[in-house]
Amino acid sequence: MKTGFVGLGAMGLPMARNLHRAGLLAGVSNRTPTKAEQLAAETGCAAAGSPEDLAAMCEAVVICVSADADVLAVTDALAAAGKPGLLVLDCSTVSSETAKQADRRMRESGGRFLDCPVSGGTEGAQRGTLSIMVGGEPDDVAAAGPILQAMGGSITHMGPVGAGQATKATNQIMVAGINQAVTEALAFGQAQGLPTDRLIGALEKGAAGNWFLSHRGPTMVRGEYPLGFKVDLHAKDLRICRAMGDALGVRLPMVEMTLIHYSRLLDEGSVDEDISALFRLKSDMFSGQNNQKKD
Ligand code: NAP
Repeated sequence: MKTGFVGLGAMGLPMARNLHRAGLLAGVSNRTPTKAEQLAAETGCAAAGSPEDLAAMCEAVVICVSADADVLAVTDALAAAGKPGLLVLDCSTVSSETAKQADRRMRESGGRFLDCPVSGGTEGAQRGTLSIMVGGEPDDVAAAGPILQAMGGSITHMGPVGAGQATKATNQIMVAGINQAVTEALAFGQAQGLPTDRLIGALEKGAAGNWFLSHRGPTMVRGEYPLGFKVDLHAKDLRICRAMGDALGVRLPMVEMTLIHYSRLLDEGSVDEDISALFRLKSDMFSGQNNQKKD
């Protein structure tokens, strides 16, 4: 299947490279065109001037852009091409409702849509080992198989359109809890005067071991927070979780606490930092700043 890619950011660029390695990448489009031109020069694929032009040259298009309004803008542009059977795979993290709206728009223009949010960070995107949570019609999921396999190590069909994003929202609540636990615990361990390299090595082999501790622990204890996953993108995901909780009449404590902490980080200018920058707030507690009692 000739496949296009829209959104060559921290996730999209390595995902598009994996499609190229699998022999699927026909063209790319990006809001900032130079990124598309650079990848086109690197891979030999076409650099399309717009998502609409890209749709005209492809049978499938993968999207990985920032937020809900961006996905709807891109799907509108893809739908405008009116290409019969065009299969759109949206790997961005947005609400289930946005996925359903995008699906309606694609189907009205004769196309097909799958919500395919991903987990596994930029490392997973580079290695092609992402966990992909898919919502859509079984026939469309089957048709998308080679594309999904080129980008992911685990592909799970969760149900109809929207079910992929509901799964991702569940994942993002868990990521918030893990970030809270790992940053608070490592700041505590550091304040105990423990050698942090040995601390991380010991903990990651036991019951508290997890991906975030192994991949972000060593940098956070040095006060470095390389991207990664931007604080404002996770805050966006947690606001989606909050809205989904509101719809059930439930307030989610982990989501609320993490949103307070992220807004403090963003106020301090952490726009381009990884979510592990939460370690800075936790460390400050032990030096008398940002005391938790304020929350
Ligand atoms: P990013 O580095 O900020 O890249 C965002 C991309 O979307 C850029 O290529 C940007 O274009 C494009 N874009 C944004 N708004 C657009 C619009 N209205 N029209 C067209 N293109 C638009 O973000 P990212 O980290 O790759 O994340 C992308 C998505 O994946 C987000 O939904 C995020 O929540 C999700 N995600 C991220 C991670 C992670 O670890 N980073 C993990 C899983 C899922 P420009 O180049 O012109 O800015």
